[in-house]
Amino acid sequence: MRTPTLRRLADVVFTTDAKQRLRITRSLLATSVYVICVALMGYACWAGFMDIGDVQVFTVLIVINALVWYAALRSGFNLRFEDPALTLPQILASLTLIVGAYSITGPIHGSTMMLLTLVMVFGIFNLKARASKIAAAYTVTLMGLAMVYKMRTDPVYYPLKLEVAHFVLTASIVPTISMLAAQLSSLRAKLQAQKDELAQAVTRIQILATRDELTGLCNRRHMRDVLNQHQQRLGRSGFHPFCLAILDLDHFKRVNDTHGHGVGDEVLRHFAEQAHAALREVDVLARWGGEEFLLLLVNTTPDLAQLGIERIRDKLSKSPLVLDQLILPVTFSAGLTGYSNGEPLDTCIERADRALYEAKKNGRNRTEIAVEQAHLHAPPVDATATAAAHDQSAA
Ligand code: GH3
Ligand code: MG
Ligand code: MG
Repeated sequence: MRTPTLRRLADVVFTTDAKQRLRITRSLLATSVYVICVALMGYACWAGFMDIGDVQVFTVLIVINALVWYAALRSGFNLRFEDPALTLPQILASLTLIVGAYSITGPIHGSTMMLLTLVMVFGIFNLKARASKIAAAYTVTLMGLAMVYKMRTDPVYYPLKLEVAHFVLTASIVPTISMLAAQLSSLRAKLQAQKDELAQAVTRIQILATRDELTGLCNRRHMRDVLNQHQQRLGRSGFHPFCLAILDLDHFKRVNDTHGHGVGDEVLRHFAEQAHAALREVDVLARWGGEEFLLLLVNTTPDLAQLGIERIRDKLSKSPLVLDQLILPVTFSAGLTGYSNGEPLDTCIERADRALYEAKKNGRNRTEIAVEQAHLHAPPVDATATAAAHDQSAA
């Protein structure tokens, strides 16, 4: 475990943003390539192949390079760019430094070529296909130029025959790594696309499994789950009483017969939209069957729940469905009842259904309440609180 002081220090050095932290850590890790480079130069110096002055200049350059990238990442300057990791510019800078090392390491310059490939490998995991091609073309060109220059100025250590061999190696290995990077990049893109598709499919399946396609309301299966949860919660705690109501559109068959099935569907959608808008957030409306809806009203008693149902009626009467020139008033009948703690849900639903039958019989466009058998055993409800909840969310 890190101590708080160390953690604070790490936060200052690497920032607290996880993504920025990763970018900074990666950039510093890439500096290890230069450490190898300097160690190699140290050896060359010890063996008498190199001048200590060159090693010092090179070391200063790599420190400046590392500080520049650290500053760009730590300050957040990197966030202005499409690739905030600044992968390509960092890799191009590294390649430039290694070509520089190639040019000053005299008789052991061939060994620095390995470092070129190491830098390219760093890019494999982060560069897009186009960027890795740019890096490869840049490396081959820069190495070619450095070789020509060194052949002319230092032909003893950089003879033509050796440089040709080095160039052939560079020109074949570096583009090969770039090709692999491109393949990996397209594989990553494909995997990402598959991941996105899968996530979309899961969301769609969830919607299909829980929603009614026509109205967008809860479907029957999902409503059963919701009801079970409320039943269990009430069973466990004795609190949160709820009511159930079945709402059935009046003379809906006539709408279908007169205006067609399509208009009938529009009426169902309109009803669902208006009812949903009139209800509290916590109440759940489900399409139970063709033109029948089951409404769950939570934390309330039938008397107060009726207010919620009348709010739907009021909203529907104020906003009838208008289709082209056609005005279609939509009314419904409702059977409402309170759930009695411990009774099977179906018993409660059947009671609501019987109340609905009464509402139809008594002239439609009305609500009838069926009193639950065991309502005396039901937990007491704070009527003031539930009334306030109704008033608040009805607004
Ligand atoms: P009542 O006032 O007694 O409820 O009369 P009603 O005409 O509404 O009742 P009935 O049960 O006789 O008719 C319901 C109709 O609802 C019959 C059926 O064709 C229609 N229906 C069921 N599902 C759909 C649907 O998804 N879309 C459309 N357009 N009609 C539907
Ligand atoms: Mg009906
Ligand atoms: Mg019906």
